[in-house]
This record gives sequence, C-alpha cells and structure tokens, in this order.
Amino acid sequence: MFEKIEHLGIAVKDLAASQKLFSALINQEPYKEESVESEHVKTVFYQTGESKIELLEATHPSSAIATFIEKKGEGIHHIAFAVSDIYAEINRLKAEGFVFINETPKQGADNKVVVFLHPKSSNGVLIELCQER
Ligand code: ZN
Repeated sequence: MFEKIEHLGIAVKDLAASQKLFSALINQEPYKEESVESEHVKTVFYQTGESKIELLEATHPSSAIATFIEKKGEGIHHIAFAVSDIYAEINRLKAEGFVFINETPKQGADNKVVVFLHPKSSNGVLIELCQER
C-alpha cells in the first residue's frame, strides 16, 4: 500500500548554499546529513509535518544528480512514496507495465530500502518507493 509522500527530492548544485536557503525557508535546520557512496550523493533531510524534503548534491560527475542538473538544471528530482510492502508493490507495478530502474530494493538514505521507477513510464517523473528498514 502507498502510505504517504515520504519526501520530495530536490537536486542542487551546492548543498551548503541550498542548506542555508532551505533552512531559512523552512525555519529549521536539517535533522540529518548523509552521504550515499553507491549513488555518489550527499544529502540533507528536513522534516515538515509527516513529509520530508531531501536535498541532493552530486559528489561525482557520474552521479545521476549531476546528469539531471546538466540536462534540466536544479529542481525537483523525484517523489518518494512510503510503501508498506515494497516487494508487493514492485510485483504489482511490474504487472501494470511500469518500468523500474532497479527492481531489487537497495540501501537508500535515511535508513530506507528503495527502488526507482523509470520516469519514462510515469510522465517524466522519477518515482521512488521506500520502506523503513
Ligand atoms: Zn529520495
């Protein structure tokens, strides 16, 4: 089951500058800073009610965030939905014809396992499904 929008991921060029900006915007500091080596990203998370904002900066030119910013500029990069059973959702969505970037859940930021759906099968929007580990 899709439970809620867990977070919005925002691709940024300069995490320190964007952290300053979003801290002023949201009027609080991020509750977490984390690097995901396998994805070549550095992230910070803000809690806003039951949803979060994730800022992502590339740490390597081969990072998907670097490619995204090159193509589209900074901005909303993905929508992440919290799901109660990630394997059941993967099977359901595959049967519906959705295309996955990775079909096997992998370690994401913020103590989650995650999969991504390819934006080509969801109106150009990168969708993340995540489940608490
Ligand atoms: Zn995310």
